[in-house]
Amino acid sequence: MEHRSPGNSQFESVTAEGEGKGVAGTAGWNLKNSYARLPAEFYTTAAPTVVRAPKLVVLNAAVARLLGLEPTLLNTVEQVACLDGNQLLPGSTPLAQAYAGHQFGGFTMLGDGRAILLGEQQTPSGALMDVQLKGAGQTAYSRRGDGRASLGPMLREYIISHAMYALGIPTTLSLAVVATGEPVYRNQVEPGAVLTRIAASHLRVGTFQYAATRQEVPILRALADYTIHRHFPQIKDPSNPYLELLRMVTERQAALVAQWMLVGFIHGVMNTDNVSIAGETIDYGPCAFMNGYDPGTVYSSIDHQGRYAYQNQPAICQWNLARFAETLIPLLHDDTDQAIVLATEVIRQFPDIYQQNWLSGMRRKLGMLDIQSDDQSLVDQLLDWMNRHQADFTNTFRDLTMDRCQAAVYDDAQFQHWLSRWKHHLAVAGIAWNKAQAMMQQSNPAVIPRNYRVEEALSAAVEHQDLEPLNRLLTALSKPYEESPANQPYRQPPSDGDVGYCTYCGT
Ligand code: AMP
Ligand code: MG
Repeated sequence: MEHRSPGNSQFESVTAEGEGKGVAGTAGWNLKNSYARLPAEFYTTAAPTVVRAPKLVVLNAAVARLLGLEPTLLNTVEQVACLDGNQLLPGSTPLAQAYAGHQFGGFTMLGDGRAILLGEQQTPSGALMDVQLKGAGQTAYSRRGDGRASLGPMLREYIISHAMYALGIPTTLSLAVVATGEPVYRNQVEPGAVLTRIAASHLRVGTFQYAATRQEVPILRALADYTIHRHFPQIKDPSNPYLELLRMVTERQAALVAQWMLVGFIHGVMNTDNVSIAGETIDYGPCAFMNGYDPGTVYSSIDHQGRYAYQNQPAICQWNLARFAETLIPLLHDDTDQAIVLATEVIRQFPDIYQQNWLSGMRRKLGMLDIQSDDQSLVDQLLDWMNRHQADFTNTFRDLTMDRCQAAVYDDAQFQHWLSRWKHHLAVAGIAWNKAQAMMQQSNPAVIPRNYRVEEALSAAVEHQDLEPLNRLLTALSKPYEESPANQPYRQPPSDGDVGYCTYCGT
């Protein structure tokens, strides 16, 4: 059975039951193994564990095409076997990556305990993209974990990464989820699954922290050189490429977190092992989108102190980058004191870089094509009103975009005052409404993965093997900046405001 979501979406998904009749061919796989050429300290070879009764649950055709794969050829027994680990892709050198990380502030040695890197797919554009099986069985880094993943959390990662991609936010991608036909034991027995995760790379701040613990400069340098070659080949200044690396990672992270803040995304577990050097959003465990605007919003069940609350994300990002900078000290200057001065100077710039990204994003959200001195106060005043009234973050910006602030919540003196101030601002700047609106439509999503819709799709898929809600949700999320009758049900905030909604680390 193959189902394609209706419409001509760039992000359509294909679901199947994995019983395709074995169309031969490689489907376009072209794996390289550049990471495996790093010093042996950086990984341990690891073969995926064989699973009993694999079934393809969902496959992202757009992601397949991005990789240079033919999606219709992936729905065969042989190809699905490569996505559940029962068979190795041609050219694969499977390995588990070593890394460390600060988890909620405490330093730990980690590594891929349930993920196996198959290699890097060379795409038609020449880029290398990591192909990783998450939930593929135990590795040398599993500690006491079973190396497995359950279906609900893997589908959750599939949904949210799909949404982030469609929103235009850098993210790892999900090619497929395959149910293993085996149970995994968590608080209860759950169906097992393997997610095929695609990433610019899985290099993390934690990979550099791991390298730093080895206390051997050549090992650290090998990692830094590999990173520059793979992600920042434009670094030209040969006098100090490692300082430039720090600067570029800082810029990418500042831009990324600003994008999260502009759509109300709360990552939930910004540990340093979950910070991608390439600047992608990675690790969709306890993440969630905010409804009513409240800067202190936390959804994660384990984030008792609110360390990773919405409003803390920029500061935590800077903290994580400071940990990255520390690892680079031996490469920045022969004199450690000088190296610290250089690194500190870059990290100190983070708040300004972040603020510039955030404010220019806010300007786009409010159609302010020019730059005026009162921009910041205009934004602050709106956010202050939204906070007092717990106005829905997504829908307030969308209602402004569509010029339809007629709902009861907007019948309020403070809001009306703000509205006339904003309209006056646009008029004084000579910004035509149609121009402002066109920009706002590109910047203010109508559809985000509402938590209750995500949960509804997951429980139908996991408890009732019903993929219809999942596919309808994926379709709605494919074009987040458009409003249509079909996506109308996905634009509603939860009737209960998500009171008590709680997320868990992906298990
Ligand atoms: P995460 O919370 O997904 O960022 O994972 C933190 C660390 O725990 C990583 O080193 C994972 O590989 C490891 N881990 C998470 N779940 C499992 C599991 N079921 N088996 C083995 N290791 C795991
Ligand atoms: Mg992680």
